[in-house]
Amino acid sequence: MASAQTTDDELFDEFLSANGHDTVPAGWDHSYNKKQCPECGGIHDDDAQKCAVCGWFPER
Ligand SMILES: [Zn+2]
Repeated sequence: MASAQTTDDELFDEFLSANGHDTVPAGWDHSYNKKQCPECGGIHDDDAQKCAVCGWFPER
């Protein structure tokens, strides 16, 4: 049964990857001295907590 469990985990990882959940960036991109939203490319001041364009914010 242990091998079956491992297979389920692998399938679950593939499911997440196929749906893009593993590829979402965890933090801001940067453009010059500004923060850039990795989702929509919106530029924000360095003290921005979330994207005002699409509502994205860092996971942590
Ligand atoms: Zn955005």
